[in-house]
Amino acid sequence: MTAYPITDHSYDVVVVGAGGSGLRATLGCAQAGLRTVNITKVFPTRSHTVAAQGGISASLGNMMEDDWRWHMFDTVKGSDWLGDQDAIEYLCREAPTAVYELEHFGVPFSRTEEGKIYQRAFGGMTTEYGEGPAALRTCAAADRTGHAMLHTLYGQSVRHNAEFMIEYFVIDLIMDEEGACRGVVAINMDDGTIHRIRAKLTILATGGYGRTYFSCTSAHTCTGDGNGMVLRAGLPLQDMEFIQFHPTGIYGAGCLITEGARGEGGYVTNSEGERFMERYAPSAKDLASRDVVSRSMTIEIREGRGVGPNKDHIYLHLDHLDPAILAERLPGISESARIFAGVDVTKEPIPVLPTVHYNMGGIQTNFHGEVVTLKDGNPDQVVPGLMAVGEAACVSVHGANRLGSNSLIDLVVFGRAAGLRAAQIVDPEEKQRDLPADAGEMALSRLDAARHANGSTSTAELRLKMQRIMQNNCAVFRTGEVLEEGVKLIKEVYDARNDLKTFDRSLIWNSDLIETLEFDNLIRQAMVAMYSAENRKESRGAHAREDYPDRDDENWMKHTLAWLDEDGTVRMDYRPVHSYTLSNDIEYIKPKARVY
Ligand SMILES: Cc1cc2nc3c(=O)[nH]c(=O)nc-3n(C[C@H](O)[C@H](O)[C@H](O)COP(=O)(O)OP(=O)(O)OC[C@H]3O[C@@H](n4cnc5c(N)ncnc54)[C@H](O)[C@@H]3O)c2cc1C
Repeated sequence: MTAYPITDHSYDVVVVGAGGSGLRATLGCAQAGLRTVNITKVFPTRSHTVAAQGGISASLGNMMEDDWRWHMFDTVKGSDWLGDQDAIEYLCREAPTAVYELEHFGVPFSRTEEGKIYQRAFGGMTTEYGEGPAALRTCAAADRTGHAMLHTLYGQSVRHNAEFMIEYFVIDLIMDEEGACRGVVAINMDDGTIHRIRAKLTILATGGYGRTYFSCTSAHTCTGDGNGMVLRAGLPLQDMEFIQFHPTGIYGAGCLITEGARGEGGYVTNSEGERFMERYAPSAKDLASRDVVSRSMTIEIREGRGVGPNKDHIYLHLDHLDPAILAERLPGISESARIFAGVDVTKEPIPVLPTVHYNMGGIQTNFHGEVVTLKDGNPDQVVPGLMAVGEAACVSVHGANRLGSNSLIDLVVFGRAAGLRAAQIVDPEEKQRDLPADAGEMALSRLDAARHANGSTSTAELRLKMQRIMQNNCAVFRTGEVLEEGVKLIKEVYDARNDLKTFDRSLIWNSDLIETLEFDNLIRQAMVAMYSAENRKESRGAHAREDYPDRDDENWMKHTLAWLDEDGTVRMDYRPVHSYTLSNDIEYIKPKARVY
C-alpha cells in the first residue's frame, strides 16, 4: 500500500457532521466541558439542514390549545405504528424545551401579533388524539427555518469553544477488536493530508441518503456516509425500506415546495381542476400525511388525470392566497417556483410531483443517541464509543413514515440528548487508550484503491445507473416482481464497483475521488434498502406494496435489521417495536387503521 503520512489528533468527542443534529450535539458536548471537535465535509451552514423550509414541531400551544400527548398520538399514527413509543414520548415531551432553547440561542422565529412564536398547520398534525381540528404546531422562521437554526447553532458552538475541521471528509470509523468505536480517519480535501482522530466517543450526524435516487429534494452531499461506515463496521441498518416521497417537489427540478405551503391553505388539483384529496382523505384533505398525499397524486396520474402535455404531474395552487401572506410567510418557495418552474405563485399553480425527500431508516440507536445492535439475543446491545443522531439515525421515532416538521425537532431533541449522555459517560480526566496498531489501515486502503481505480466505468456512469434503478424499482408503489428485478439489478451495480475508473490521481480537491468514496457509501445503502423492501411483505407507511396492500401487524410489526457483507450478501433479522411508553403520563397507543 502507498504510504500516506498521518497526523494524529486526540479529543474526548468527535462529531461527524455539522447539520442541525451534529451542531446541537457538538454544542451539548462542548457545554459539558468535553474537548469536542466537529468534522464536516461542507462548511457547517451549507449542510442540508440549511434547506429546511417549513418548520419545527412542538406543542407550544401558542395559537390554540395543544398537548405533547396529542403530538405523540399523531407521530405514532404517522409512523403507522412502527415507531418506538418510548422514543416518541421522549421526542414530543422534550420538544417544547428544545424549541425554547433554540429561541434563547437566537433563532429568529416568525411571531404572532402578541410576540409569541408563530405556529402553522402541517400534514398529519391534529388535536384531541386525531378527533379535533388540525393542530397549529409547527414553529417557523418564515420558510427558512433550517437556515436560521444552522446559523444560530454554529455561532453557539463556536462560542463554547468547540473546534471545527471544515471540508474534511471522514473515510471510515476506527473499530477495535472488542467492537468499540475509537475514532475516525479523515482526509483534508484541500491539501490531501490524512488525519486520524482518536476519541472516547464518536457521534455520527451525517444525514440521509436521498442521492441513491435520481430525483430527490436533498443536496448532492446527502450520500449517507455514516450509514456506509456503519455497514462496513459489520453493524446493521434499520428499516431502510422506508423512504419518504414528498408530494410537492417541483416537476423536473425536484426542488422542494414546503408542506407549509399547504399548511397556509394551498391545495393540489388534477387535470379536471378537481381538488382530489377530498376523495382520498375526506377529513385532513391536502394535509393528510405525506405518504397518503404522494400515493393519491400517483394514482391520479396513473388514471390519466395528470396535468401538462404528458399528463405526468399535478398542480399545487397558492394563487388564491393573499400575496402579502405569501411574501411574508413563503418568500423562499415563491422564489424557487419562479426560478425552477418559471411560475409566479400569486397568479399560476406550481407543477409538482412526489420526490424522494427523507429516509426513515438508518443507524439503530436508543433515545440517548447510543448506537445499539442485536447481539447474543439482545436487540438493544449498546456499541461502546458510538452514537448517531439526526437523519442518519433510526431511533425510531418516525417508524414507517415521518410527519413534516418532525425531523428538525428530532435533530435538536436527540442532538441535545446525545450531549447529555456524553456528559454522563465520557470522563474528560480519563487517559485514552492507545489505538489498535493497524488503526485506520482499512480506511487508507479504501482511499488508495479508489484513487487508483483503473477499470472501465466512471463513477458518474455507475451512480446514474444506481439512481435510475432505485427510482424505477423502489418507488412510491412497489410490487414483488419489480422489487425482485430491482434486487438483481442493484446487485449488478454493486459488483460493477470493481470495474470503476477514477481519472484524477491527485490529492488536492479531488472531487472524482471523493465522489467515488461517496458512491461506495450510496451503493451499499441502495443494496440494503432494495433488499429490505423486497423482504417486507405488507404495506405500511411509505412502503406501499400492490401485491400486499394491507398492513400486517401480526407478522410485520417489527423493525428490519439488514447487514451487508463485503461480497454483497445481505443478511436480515428483526427487532421488536417498543410497545411501551417511558412514563405513566400516557398509555401505549394501540394500533388501528390509519385514515385521515
Ligand atoms: C429541502 C428540504 C427541506 C426540508 N424541510 C424540513 C422542514 O421544514 N422540517 C423538518 O422537520 N424537516 C425538513 N427536512 C428534513 C430535515 O431538514 C433533514 O432531515 C435534516 O436537516 C437532516 O439533518 P442532519 O443533521 O441529520 O444532517 P444534514 O443537515 O444533512 O448534515 C449532514 C452533515 O454531515 C456532514 N457529513 C456527511 N458525510 C460526511 C463525511 N463523510 N465526512 C465529513 N462530514 C460529513 C456534512 O458535511 C453535513 O454537515 C427537509 C429536508 C430537505 C431536503
